[in-house]
Amino acid sequence: MNDIIIRLIPMPYRIKGLVKEDADGDYNVYIREQDPIEVQRETYLHELEHIRRGHLEGLKEVELCEAEAEAAAKRRAPRSGDPGRVHEPHRIA
Ligand SMILES: [Zn+2]
Repeated sequence: MNDIIIRLIPMPYRIKGLVKEDADGDYNVYIREQDPIEVQRETYLHELEHIRRGHLEGLKEVELCEAEAEAAAKRRAPRSGDPGRVHEPHRIA
């Protein structure tokens, strides 16, 4: 319950990561294995913000969730360039 399980898996290039809550109440974070470690770290911080902010409960607009997660992740790990979207909004959960 409330564990965070991280897996590196192959993913299409338009998706850097996603997070899903499973039936045990654990959070499964998937990170694109092809990305450099710096990008994977940013992706992880982004997904972590979705968990911390309760976005997986689905009560908030997905675009707002994306903006919140992205802003918070950037504060934790400022990025040098524009990394593009971490994932499509519907892939949060
Ligand atoms: Zn996101």
